[in-house]
Amino acid sequence: MNLHEYQAREIFARYGIPVPPGEVATTPAEAEAVARRLGGRVVVKAQVHAGGRGKAGGVKRAPTPADARAAAERILGMTIKGLTVRRVLVSRAAEIAHEAYLGIVIDRRQQAPVVMACAQGGIDIEEVAARAPERILRETVDPRYGLLPHQASRLAYRLYGDAPRARAAAEIAQKLYRTFLESGASLVEINPLVTTPQGELQAIDAKMVIDDNELVRRPELQALRDVEGEDPGEVEAREAGLSYIRLDGDVGCCVNGAGLAMATMDLIQYYGGRPANFLDIGGSSRPEKVIAALSIITRDPSVKSILFNIFGGITRCDDVANGIVAATRESKLPVPITIRLTGTNEDEAVRILESAGFAAMTDMDAAVRKAVELAPAQPQAG
Ligand code: GDP
Ligand code: MN
Repeated sequence: MNLHEYQAREIFARYGIPVPPGEVATTPAEAEAVARRLGGRVVVKAQVHAGGRGKAGGVKRAPTPADARAAAERILGMTIKGLTVRRVLVSRAAEIAHEAYLGIVIDRRQQAPVVMACAQGGIDIEEVAARAPERILRETVDPRYGLLPHQASRLAYRLYGDAPRARAAAEIAQKLYRTFLESGASLVEINPLVTTPQGELQAIDAKMVIDDNELVRRPELQALRDVEGEDPGEVEAREAGLSYIRLDGDVGCCVNGAGLAMATMDLIQYYGGRPANFLDIGGSSRPEKVIAALSIITRDPSVKSILFNIFGGITRCDDVANGIVAATRESKLPVPITIRLTGTNEDEAVRILESAGFAAMTDMDAAVRKAVELAPAQPQAG
């Protein structure tokens, strides 16, 4: 679960990380009022679950409260990476002499948190990682001991040449680690970590991703979820009990079981196609799940071909077939569908599908090939 910047910075502040004062606003008038309360120059920032807001015009400086109102007028309602801006953060403007990056993520290979820092902050850290990976400093944390003082210091002294800033940065890194650990986060990020002309450090941007599995024990974080700000397909999937992850291909897939879903995606790629999503309808196959799955897949405009791959065990093929028939009774599918099912109640499923005008296949390899062929070839970028 992603937190908005205004939520993450509140948590950062609770852990003693220096953030400029600010408040969230939903209307231009509110933004003006916040700016007046803060006094002086402010920045007005779009609150959406997307990076690169600065480049997209979602971060504007406002010298006066009237300017803050005007900036909020322009930013509210704006679309950034497909997400509509419904809230802005109005924050006291910081003066910036230098921008660095400081973040913590879980490194799956090392099975441990890694603290990362970079003297070139502000911009996309992924870009730096791709172009000049040696510029990213790392300290792997042994989760039994946490981020040790000498590790934080080593990182901070490599990041900044001078002792006062290095000491301050080491302290911020320790606080950020506590934030990360106690929030059940999979990522925390300060980008940029700013040095003011007076030599003080401030967190100007705040990003937190909470591991969904940690939310059951943290109702106070669960309450911060902004359903309106999330991908509607992922919201519907969560509510229907489906595991769904949107990808950038064009073959929409609906599979039972995560392992088979991964194998199906591999096979799609093997035959030159690109999966539009990962979707696991799980072990049971109530027709409602299939209906929800089809609604989620067809909502994605990049889907050009749909593939069902069902290996019936506990999942009954006839349930899935009934789901497909029910889902398509009212409205026809906008794109071709390829259905492969085998196992429990397979014959019954084939009968149901064929009498509704669908073709059913039993061979996975042939079905995947067909689904890839039915997605028109896209011109390759670059
Ligand atoms: P992002 O583009 O979504 O990562 O949004 P950020 O909060 O990181 O803002 C983008 C850029 O706007 C920063 O790297 C800064 O250069 C600039 N910026 C943001 N807040 C301030 C501020 O308070 N003062 C100044 N001078 N620049 C700011
Ligand atoms: Mn940023």
